[in-house]
Formats: sequence, structure tokens, C-alpha cells
Amino acid sequence: MTRAAVLPRYRGIAAALAAHGLAARGGFALAAADRAPAVGAGRPARALILVGAAGPAPWTAFAASAEAADGAPDPLDRWSRRVIAAVAAACAPDGARVIGPGDGPPYPPFLAWARRAAAVHPSPLGLLIDPAVGLWHSYRGALALAAVPPDLPAPAATPPAPCASCADRPCLAACPVGAFSADGYAAETCRAFLADAAGQACRTAGCAARRACPVGADARYPPAQAAFHMAAFLGWGGDAAGRARPLRGKATAAQQGAPGPREGV
Ligand code: SF4
Ligand code: SF4
Repeated sequence: MTRAAVLPRYRGIAAALAAHGLAARGGFALAAADRAPAVGAGRPARALILVGAAGPAPWTAFAASAEAADGAPDPLDRWSRRVIAAVAAACAPDGARVIGPGDGPPYPPFLAWARRAAAVHPSPLGLLIDPAVGLWHSYRGALALAAVPPDLPAPAATPPAPCASCADRPCLAACPVGAFSADGYAAETCRAFLADAAGQACRTAGCAARRACPVGADARYPPAQAAFHMAAFLGWGGDAAGRARPLRGKATAAQQGAPGPREGV
């Protein structure tokens, strides 16, 4: 007798992720035109759930993990993938595939997916802003599912974008080297400043432009987390205490694409 297929449940996946400090960040049913990776041979993906980190909670879980202490490259990416894979095995045993932001090239369109999955908006810094946690969130992966969860939430009614009513835009004035302009974000200007002694405050406390945003202030990253991401941006590596160290392997594309102010993926 064949076993009936077990449909994945969004709420179950969200609860399992939350037990590890991660968050389900919405999802959507896929169409063929989305060209999402299949979950297996001849098994197209039918739905996608975004997995993210919001606020400081995931950092506590990661800092206590084996990956944070093993000294090998890309500890946060490895931890994220391990946790998401374990949740997939437990909650979607009939077909799921873990997709990481650094899987590529070509790299998955995480930011476009994120905007379909939940009410997040572009900001002048290039990061997506969430009305609840501001700029203090990122995407750690996605789960492609072979079946659409019956409780998949409908895309949220979009609350107004916080930046639309932010007349002063303090984020744009806070960068000490004016890395944000009408031409976009000057990554090399930022990187050169960070590598210099003058960049210590950004390096250890996090991007001043990001910290200047008043939205989601309670969700700001602790200094160790901010320093970890800065070290990754600079290619210095880093440990869960925020100490920089030389990278022994190459940074993943997600880390390369996740500089201090744009650690949005
Ligand atoms: S400071 Fe204002 S404009 Fe800048 S990201 Fe925050 S809400 Fe948006
Ligand atoms: S980390 Fe942010 S505030 Fe600091 S130099 Fe770079 S863009 Fe400017």
C-alpha cells in the first residue's frame, strides 16, 4: 500500500524554523514561467517559501552552532543551509529543495522573490526595508516545495513603504564618506574607508547609514553580528564573536553581495 503524500504546511515550517532562530518570510505559488529549480528529477517546484533572519534572534542560535566555531569558511551560510535542510526533511518529506542566495551563477533572484512573498520595499540604501524590522533582516535561503502548502498565506496587503513618509532621510546623510549618491552605492569608497583606521566605528558597530534609520530600531543587530558581516564584506572572514580573521576559502557570492550596508541577502 502506498503512503499518502504529506502536504507541507506553512505554519509547521515557520514553527520549525523559529525553533532555530530563523523565520519564514512569506511565500508564493510558482508558475512555470518562474523557472524555479526543480525539487527532483521530473518534479517541478510548485511553491517557494523564503527563509530569513530578522533582528538579533538568529545570531544567538548561530553563535552557539558548531559552524560558528569550526574555523571553516562561510559558517553562516553553512549553518543556514543545514538548518533549512533539516526543517525541509521534517516538514516536507515528499519533496523540497533548499536554495541558497549564493547558489550560482546564475544566482537566484532573492530580492525579487522577497518582494513577491511579503510586504518589503526598496530603500534609498538599496536594501529592502520591512515596516516592522526596518533594515535589520536578511534572506538566508528558500525552500522550493513540490506541493503548495494549503495554508500558504496570501501576499500581505502592502502597508505603506516607510521611506515614502521619511522626509529627512537620515540614512543618506549618515555615511562619513558619502557612499550613497544619485549614482547609487559606491562600494569601493565604502570598502576603502572600512579598511582604514577611520572606519572602525562602521566596522565594529555596523554601517552608520543603516543605523541612522529609525524604523525597526529594536531589531538592530548586536555589535558582534554587525562586525561579522563587515568582516565578510571586507573578505576578512570573522567569527561569531565578531573578530576578523583571514578567510581560508573564498567568500560565497552571498557574502560578496552582502556588503556592510547592503547585507540584505
Ligand atoms: S532613514 Fe528613512 S529613507 Fe532611509 S531607509 Fe530609513 S525610512 Fe527609508
Ligand atoms: S559602512 Fe555604511 S556608513 Fe560606513 S562607509 Fe560604508 S556605506 Fe558609509
